[in-house]
Amino acid sequence: MTELKPAVLSVGRADFEAWLADHGARAFRRAQVIGWVMRGASSFDVMRDLPRSLREQLDAAFRVTSLQPIATSEADRGLTTKTLFELDGGHTVEAVVMRYADRSTLCISSQAGCPVGCPFCATGKFPFGRNLAAHEIEEQAVDAARLLDVEGRRLSHVVFMGMGEPFVNYRAVIDSVRRITDPERLAISPRRIVVSTSGVIPRIEELGGEKLPVTLAISLHAARDELRDVLVPINRKYPVHKLVEAADGYARRSGRRVSYEWVMLAGVNDSERDANELGRLLRKRLAHVNLIPFNPVTDTPYAAPARDGVRRFKELVAAEGLNVTVRDTRGRDADAACGQLHERVARQRESAAVT
Ligand code: SAH
Ligand code: SF4
Repeated sequence: MTELKPAVLSVGRADFEAWLADHGARAFRRAQVIGWVMRGASSFDVMRDLPRSLREQLDAAFRVTSLQPIATSEADRGLTTKTLFELDGGHTVEAVVMRYADRSTLCISSQAGCPVGCPFCATGKFPFGRNLAAHEIEEQAVDAARLLDVEGRRLSHVVFMGMGEPFVNYRAVIDSVRRITDPERLAISPRRIVVSTSGVIPRIEELGGEKLPVTLAISLHAARDELRDVLVPINRKYPVHKLVEAADGYARRSGRRVSYEWVMLAGVNDSERDANELGRLLRKRLAHVNLIPFNPVTDTPYAAPARDGVRRFKELVAAEGLNVTVRDTRGRDADAACGQLHERVARQRESAAVT
């Protein structure tokens, strides 16, 4: 097997500058190359302001990106685009671009698969693959920015709500956030980045020390341990009251309101009792509740609530004095909930292998 060339974004600044010096080029060439990559260049050859010989040497040594798009799907009449990327080594991850009137948001993956294994989640059903490196996370954002740029749009928001548990891959995720916010790179404000976690308490505490004012989203889904132990199995290690305390600590240190996610599973976590428990847990905290109607996943025992059920539960939660919204369910027909395009392609590959 031929050795893969390193992706240019995987090379640190010092190493890149040393490489340039070894090839008789000045250090400022690094920023030029990075600038081209950020603007979506698909090859070194298009980097016109670099000497031809340097372009050829770069091409011999590096790849512009490590991600290979292997499937895409569109939904919402073209407003949602989901791309499945193959990583070096063969694992796949998904990234979803969602276009709105006033913003364009990318839902990004931090791991191939997820070790947490929530029973309603398509990603959790697959065996865990591997952590992504920071440059693999950044490359998803670069690709989305390129896609949007062609349409005259700008990537404005990034949410870590794709495949994987960001806080099980903490260092690479923080590194990727620093890159994505770097003025020399995509320059997206950290305030426009949401990191969603199933509740890895030590990493929530660590995030408070990063001085990186991202929005923290907690995937709560249940306010009592007995139910959350089942829906979000990491709760057995990091129980819900301690989790909310840690999230509160982050809210105090960062001054940023925490967003609590609640995937609505019909007859499981959408009763009056659930709303009361949620009210007791979050009242008087700097919090916002986001209800996400379940996006059905095959081979799970869960069902989406009816439209009425969502409205009723929202009213119950609002009556508890909480700030609550219902997330618009983008991309249902694009195998939307993360992990689903991966699932479809994996099934197709399986059946192709059988026939
Ligand atoms: N692992 C992290 C981030 C990725 S999941 C986390 O769990 O927070 C992002 C969000 O999508 C989570 O709130 C998750 O619970 C939710 N989700 C997963 N599968 C879903 C589905 N089928 N329908 C609706 N939301 C889902
Ligand atoms: Fe992992 Fe999040 Fe899916 Fe749970 S919901 S299995 S933590 S990706």
